[in-house]
Amino acid sequence: MPSISPNKPYRVGRSRTGLGLFATRPIKKGSRIIRYFGPLLDSKKTDEDAIENKYLFELTNRWTIDGSVRENIARYINHACKPNAESDVKPRKRKVFIRAIKNIEPGEEINYDYGTDYFKAFLKPIGCKCEACEKKRKKKRAEARAERLRLKEKAERKERRKAEKLAKEKARARAMAKAEKVKQNGAKTNRATTNRVRANGQHHLNGHSLVRAAGKRGTAAKRGDARALQA
Ligand SMILES: [Zn+2]
Repeated sequence: MPSISPNKPYRVGRSRTGLGLFATRPIKKGSRIIRYFGPLLDSKKTDEDAIENKYLFELTNRWTIDGSVRENIARYINHACKPNAESDVKPRKRKVFIRAIKNIEPGEEINYDYGTDYFKAFLKPIGCKCEACEKKRKKKRAEARAERLRLKEKAERKERRKAEKLAKEKARARAMAKAEKVKQNGAKTNRATTNRVRANGQHHLNGHSLVRAAGKRGTAAKRGDARALQA
């Protein structure tokens, strides 16, 4: 860890993404915290224009600060999408200061927005690890979890309804089968009764046939009579 003068309101410490700069004393909103410094690179000099690292701070079209030098403690400041500090660029002086845009409490990590270009080039591909983005991811994960749970419960409700419907259908089928049985048993009883009745009825029938026979006889007698008349 780099040595920092004890009268400075910050220290380098462990952050969620490696190292970061943390407040050691309250820092008032609007106050300068630290200068972001390093050799000035001139884009008109092709060898300087070819330098590539993560700590380049573009001041103007021509001038860029190479902040990768060890002495530049400000390079430890991490990016945040909702930061508590900002980069205050003085292009004419070719200087950059990091300034608090909120009151910062001791122990709080100091951060500023690195800007869209840096974000697109370095952070978006790996996913920004700043507190705001982590919170957003956490919220999204919680929402996804809730949605999965909702779908699971919906599926379970559907299964339950299906099972209930099936059980009802089975119960109805059982009830119908039972009713059918009762009917069949009833029919048997009825048939037995009918048989009994029929058996009794046969006497009547026999009686009828006797009557019919008698009737026949009567007819024959009548015919006989007719024949007798004809004769
Ligand atoms: Zn972020």
